[in-house]
Amino acid sequence: MKFQQVSENCFAVENEKNRVCDANSGLINLGGGVVIDTQSDLSHARQMIELFGKVWPGMPKYVVNTHEDADHVWGNQFFEGAEIIGHRTMPDRMKHVADPMEMQQMMKVAEKIGAIHPGVLAVARQLQQDYDFDGIELVLPTTLYDEQYTLNLDGTKVNLIYVGACHQLGDTIVHVPKEGVVFAGDVIFRQCTPNGWIGTYEKWLKCLDLIISLNPKVIVPGHGPICGLEGAKDMKAYLEYVRSESKRCFDQGLTSLEASKRIDLGPYGEWKAPARLYLNVERAYREFRKEPADAPWDKAKSFDLIVDVAKARGIEVEF
Ligand SMILES: [Zn+2]
Repeated sequence: MKFQQVSENCFAVENEKNRVCDANSGLINLGGGVVIDTQSDLSHARQMIELFGKVWPGMPKYVVNTHEDADHVWGNQFFEGAEIIGHRTMPDRMKHVADPMEMQQMMKVAEKIGAIHPGVLAVARQLQQDYDFDGIELVLPTTLYDEQYTLNLDGTKVNLIYVGACHQLGDTIVHVPKEGVVFAGDVIFRQCTPNGWIGTYEKWLKCLDLIISLNPKVIVPGHGPICGLEGAKDMKAYLEYVRSESKRCFDQGLTSLEASKRIDLGPYGEWKAPARLYLNVERAYREFRKEPADAPWDKAKSFDLIVDVAKARGIEVEF
């Protein structure tokens, strides 16, 4: 994990492997301190706390969870006494998508079900290299907000803006105007293939336009290296490209799986986990079929199809 100062009072830790679960965290070291996102397991959360401990006077007063996914909330239990802030929809959603028991169970059965679900086996084996999901307790946000929430930290305003649903239902970005910093959560993936679960392309693109209009000097993405505005622009270009290529394939009558095997990756072949493309193509297809933005996913099947796409393309199976 790499610790970085990104402005006078803002810091980040970056999970450099940049694969699934390798989420970043942020720190605004003012007014008692704000930690943004708490990592995927206890050992990563401890490392993050140790790294931020280089600059903070003590455990922070606030935690912001940018959305409900496990990799952004599973270190919450270390911040007892802090006000944990998230979007109104988060507590319910966390119980569904960030249940630690479900992950522990998947890690246990992966070897047994590997013949039926090669994707589950592959993702579990990859996660085993870096993560241990034992001991995680689900700790929900204590302060919920609807559209916007502002913290005043020693005279520096920090705006939490609800932008969902683009990557997940609870998507929040954290803007620190005085320091020109946006903590984007998973509306920006940098140098790795994004994925979204609940939401629409339209909302996601609108959110990226909003970030561009805020004109930050620094963006801390949910995943991948710290960047400037180019992070939002590249993400926008990727989504627009995948949506239009998916439409072309959809109109030709190809399935989302066939499309995912054929769409030219172009420069995005260099990004981590390129076969996660399948999730983005399938999401576009859901929109073309006029299915609801919160239509449920069969995650095991999706992992299997990502393996299928990687194999068809002759690329490494990576999540
Ligand atoms: Zn994430």
